[in-house]
Amino acid sequence: MIDLQGLGWPALTVSASGLEIGATCRIVELHDFTGPADWTAVPLFRRCIDSLLMSFKIWNAATVGGNICMSLPAGAMIALTAALEGVCTLWPRNGAPREVPVVEFVTGNHANVLRKGELLRSIHLPATALKKRFAIRQGSLVHIGRSAALVIGTCSPGNDDFRLTITAATPRPVQFHFAEMPTAAALRRTIDERLPADGYFDDVNGSPAYKRHLTYYFSEQVRAELA
Ligand SMILES: Cc1cc2nc3c(=O)[nH]c(=O)nc-3n(C[C@H](O)[C@H](O)[C@H](O)COP(=O)(O)OP(=O)(O)OC[C@H]3O[C@@H](n4cnc5c(N)ncnc54)[C@H](O)[C@@H]3O)c2cc1C
Repeated sequence: MIDLQGLGWPALTVSASGLEIGATCRIVELHDFTGPADWTAVPLFRRCIDSLLMSFKIWNAATVGGNICMSLPAGAMIALTAALEGVCTLWPRNGAPREVPVVEFVTGNHANVLRKGELLRSIHLPATALKKRFAIRQGSLVHIGRSAALVIGTCSPGNDDFRLTITAATPRPVQFHFAEMPTAAALRRTIDERLPADGYFDDVNGSPAYKRHLTYYFSEQVRAELA
């Protein structure tokens, strides 16, 4: 047993290279964060946090690292940090720290790359990603239900470098990257090529067909908003 809070890791550290989020940073601390004026993506923090179906206790006690390590498809901190090109620093029990992009950290429903005894130490969000524009769409089967689909798009101020991140609808995060803003048809083609009909998550929060429908619908909305 390891008392992670007792390790005293700083919650949020701003530097020229970006934002270091300590794994023990509480969700409420991330919610209250206001970064440098040119970090246009910071409001996405609250939008993702709001899509987490949380009790008062979770809001004040749950950690960003706990949400990522829980590795649920609807883990909104996974969506946030994957969309903003986050990189996890992992501390193996015996050995040197290693780095893994958030988008590769979660490998399935309740599954991730952590090895026995390994800790998630922090997540680094690069300043370049924090300076991007974003669009987000979230849908649930019922009004305050867990996310059935959470789709986030980001692009650089010049409208290129478009990145679309799909979570909740799929067992693990799926991310598409385009050097330039794609057309609606090109985006739809890419989703179909990389995300087959049987690649959607089947649980009480929505059938795979419903989640696929939301994914198409939200992805196009996100693309159109940023274009
Ligand atoms: C009412 C309610 C609604 C919820 N809604 C959602 C939801 O919509 N989406 C969602 O994703 N979850 C949801 N949850 C589940 C869960 O509470 C959240 O995912 C929460 O964010 C987990 O954070 P935590 O800090 O409490 O993690 P913990 O429960 O403390 O940890 C989760 C797991 O990760 C491990 N772990 C934690 N930190 C680290 C670390 N730094 N390194 C290695 N391993 C670590 C723990 O050992 C444990 O196995 C909900 C729970 C409740 C009760």
